[in-house]
Amino acid sequence: MKLALFGAEGKVGSALLPVLEHAGHEVRGIELGDEPDVGGLDAAVDFTTPEAAPENARAALEQGVSCVVGTTGWDPQPLHELAAGNGLRLFVAPNFSIGAVLMMRFAREAARFFPRAEIIELHNEAKKDAPSGTAKATADLIGGDPVIHSVRLPGLVAHQEVIFGSEGQLLTIRHDTTARESFADGVLLALDKLDSLPPGLTVGLDSLL
Ligand code: NAP
Repeated sequence: MKLALFGAEGKVGSALLPVLEHAGHEVRGIELGDEPDVGGLDAAVDFTTPEAAPENARAALEQGVSCVVGTTGWDPQPLHELAAGNGLRLFVAPNFSIGAVLMMRFAREAARFFPRAEIIELHNEAKKDAPSGTAKATADLIGGDPVIHSVRLPGLVAHQEVIFGSEGQLLTIRHDTTARESFADGVLLALDKLDSLPPGLTVGLDSLL
C-alpha cells in the first residue's frame, strides 16, 4: 500500500517505518510542521500526540484516506461521522501489541471470578497521557471501576499488570513490551483488514483477532 506515517521520526514511528517498508509498503513520513498532504495514498498511520492525532486523522479523512491510529489520550468518536460519510475507515487501537490484547482478554476472563482488581501501568517518562489508553480499556473490560496506578520512569517501554485479589489468593496477569517493534504486527494486521471493516470508527485490535 502507499502509506503516510504521521510521527515517522518518533519512538514508535522510527521503529515502525522499516517494518512497514520491509512488508512491501511505500511510506511517506510526515512530521510536525509538514503539510498533512496524503491525497492519493491508500491509508495513513498516526503515532504522534493527543493534540496532533485528531487534526491528522481529520485531514486524512477529508482527503479521502482511511486511517489507522495508535496515538492515545484523545477521543476519536467525533470523527466517526466524517469517516462513515466518506465511506472511509478510522481504526484506532490503544494497544497494537498482540500480547497486550491477549492480556486484556485474560483479564476480562479472570474478572468473572475475582471480586477486586487493581491495574498498574508502567511507561517511559516521555509518555504524555496517564492513565494509559490500554489501562482505561482494560478497566472498561473488567468493570467495577478498578484503581489504576500510573508509573512513568526512564528505562520502561510499556508494561501492565492486572492484579486480582480474593480471600487467600492473588492472580497477576502481566504483559511487557520490551521493544517498540512489538506494535508493528498489529499495525500490519490493521492495514491488511482495513478495507473489510465497516465504514466509520472501529476501536481495538481485539475486533480484528
Ligand atoms: P514520540 O516519540 O513523542 O513521537 C511522536 C512523534 O510525533 C514525534 O516525532 C513528533 O515530532 C511527531 N509529531 C508531533 N506532532 C505532529 C504532527 N502534527 N504531525 C506529524 N507528526 C507530529 O511518541 P511515541 O512514543 O512514538 O508515541 C506516539 C503516540 O503513540 C503516543 O500517543 C503514545 O501513547 C502512542 N502509543 C501507542 C501505542 C499503541 O500500541 N497504540 C504504542 C506505543 C505508543 P516532534 O518530536 O517534532 O514533536
